[in-house]
Amino acid sequence: MLSTMKATLVDATTHERIAALGQSVLNGGKITRADAAWLFELEATADIFDLMAWANRVREHFKGNKIHLCSIVNAKAGACSENCSFCAQSSHYQTGSPKYGFVDPEPVAAAANEANLNQVTAVGLVAAWKGLNEGPMLDEVCDRIAELKAGGKTRPDASLGIIKSQKVADRLKAAGLECYGHNLESSRRFFPNTCTTHTYEDRVQTIGYLKKAGLKICSGGIIGMGETREDRCDLAFSLREIGANVVPINILNPIKGTPFEKNEPLPVMEILKTIACFRLILPRQEIMIAGGRTINLRESQSMVFMAGASALMVGNYLTTLNQPVEKDLQMLKDLGLDPSWDSHDFSDQVEAGAGCGCGEQSCATA
Ligand code: SF4
Repeated sequence: MLSTMKATLVDATTHERIAALGQSVLNGGKITRADAAWLFELEATADIFDLMAWANRVREHFKGNKIHLCSIVNAKAGACSENCSFCAQSSHYQTGSPKYGFVDPEPVAAAANEANLNQVTAVGLVAAWKGLNEGPMLDEVCDRIAELKAGGKTRPDASLGIIKSQKVADRLKAAGLECYGHNLESSRRFFPNTCTTHTYEDRVQTIGYLKKAGLKICSGGIIGMGETREDRCDLAFSLREIGANVVPINILNPIKGTPFEKNEPLPVMEILKTIACFRLILPRQEIMIAGGRTINLRESQSMVFMAGASALMVGNYLTTLNQPVEKDLQMLKDLGLDPSWDSHDFSDQVEAGAGCGCGEQSCATA
């Protein structure tokens, strides 16, 4: 009898603590690192559903019923010099992934048309290479961005790797780019387990140049690579610090031939809990569910919105297949969610004073 009462008391305390944290975020408060770390450690399904209910309220409060849809074009595939352990496109691994050079205008225009037909807000040009420097390739990239912009069918985005100079970021902005995708991938501590051919610092510095150029930042990471819950928590706080506008959460799809090919998939409830924790840490940002959604969440995909997600990568994600976009649109309709997002919804996402992520307290490049 006594032990039953004790268990009920403990549960009530957990329930109340989750509610207090959710309410404080709804009231405009910021969750602390210690409270967030506690949320990441929740184990009981009932507690995770409790957390998701609050994450859903926070999403609705800050984002309404709007869902931001993005798609990507693989603008240059395979043979990448980098050794990211999760990636089918690295030249360091034998994965059988396709390889081709920089994309012509026609496939990009076709992707923009398709996006427009499917209420998809943005098309991102994604290139499998280390990064972009000044030179003829930058000219060609800028041409594709300018064509996308002039076509008026979609918001031009890009994910083109590491940038080492302000001039490159400024050229992309001048060509009409609005948002640049550059993931931190994981925590600073775990990052060397994912890649050794470039550093976390290279990534943070790139984001600094992009923000200075006035570009919106799409930056998130991958879960299920062997990182701890603490690493996931640290990633969310780093993304808050750098002032990311859109936060993609990818779920590892272990690719045969890569070092992570034998990684155990994360349980669905662990994935949903992670999304909910990100929503409480990043209440105003677009939290986007990107690669690995269909393979890892299967029939539970629609629950990402109840866990606080406000954005979805639709169509196929580089080497990872998603369910057809028509099915995604039907899923949104069934849930009363509206994909007609526009760029004005970027406003008021990032708190004043968010820096470039360099860690200097005085830095406020946002
Ligand atoms: S994740 Fe990007 S940088 Fe890393 S190997 Fe793949 S394509 Fe190259």
